[in-house]
Amino acid sequence: MAFIKINKEHFFYNLEQFTKKCNSKEKIAIVLKDNAYGHGLGIMARLSSEFGLTQAVVRDYNEAREIRDYFNNILILGDKAVVDKSCSFVLNSLEDIFLAQKGSTVELKVDTGMHRNGISMDELEYALGLITKQKLKLKGVLTHNRSADELSSELFWQQKQFESIKNRVAVAGFRDIRFHSFNSATALRLNCKSEDLIRLGIGAYGYNELPTVYNALELKPVLSLWAKRVSTRKIKKGSRVGYGGTYISTNDMTISTYDLGYGDGWMRSNSFKPFITAEGLPILGRVSMDYISLQTDKAEVCIMDNALSSSKQIGTISYELTTQLSKDIERRVI
Ligand SMILES: *Cc1c(COP(=O)(O)O)cnc(C)c1O
Repeated sequence: MAFIKINKEHFFYNLEQFTKKCNSKEKIAIVLKDNAYGHGLGIMARLSSEFGLTQAVVRDYNEAREIRDYFNNILILGDKAVVDKSCSFVLNSLEDIFLAQKGSTVELKVDTGMHRNGISMDELEYALGLITKQKLKLKGVLTHNRSADELSSELFWQQKQFESIKNRVAVAGFRDIRFHSFNSATALRLNCKSEDLIRLGIGAYGYNELPTVYNALELKPVLSLWAKRVSTRKIKKGSRVGYGGTYISTNDMTISTYDLGYGDGWMRSNSFKPFITAEGLPILGRVSMDYISLQTDKAEVCIMDNALSSSKQIGTISYELTTQLSKDIERRVI
């Protein structure tokens, strides 16, 4: 089967860049949702902890339970709040407040403009009252930026909205609340030193999706995807390769089949415009469920070592390309 190499040196390098910028390791929460953006939940949790991070962010409680030994605190973005002294649960709506178990530790999400999750700004005082009434422990208040990775002033407008939320939480009498709104793009653009928590996802994995004017930090891709040779054959000029025979050879050539396909999470969409691998080889014809064809007979080939440039070939973003990679692909730390 295809395999993935996780470059520990690059991961530590990226974390070092952000910890330097934020002046702290404690304030960085590594975002490990969705199998750590396809990098492997357990592996990335272990490496983050080895680096010295103490906080993580995941999507559900199952993920949190899998990695709890590595962290002091885990923030859960989308699951029912239960009592667990090392986990805090995001409340995404007023309904979530009613569903939360009494005594659970929660962080209230406020919708400051993205209109995806969180209570509306008008509901803040009401929600805070409910949290008290339901006997929940409020640990934090957060929001999420809709345009941090775009060349616009929207981020500043949204930060201003969040500032007013901070004041209102204080006026409502809540103390020792942590406030957080920074994702990778925000951390790259703004000064992080006064933030309580940075929710660091894509940047830790080595990608900067910002326009080049924001080339604040140099980051190094952590993941590379490799495939193994299954069989090799000689074909004559004019032979067709793969489903539909969409590739027609221009010469007599040697081609090999490699063990990666859309069943492993490698997008088929690139069949219409050949994807060029990290080693400069175009994929010949269509991607099958478990196989692709390349003009080489090497035992192992690197399919991609930079999901940002690879994603541009396919018309998507680095997040989607890595997150889709099947959990069953072996991950090796190098
Ligand atoms: C995924 C996510 C992040 C991390 O975003 P990146 O762009 O990967 O840094 C931060 N906060 C929330 C609420 C998220 O859902």
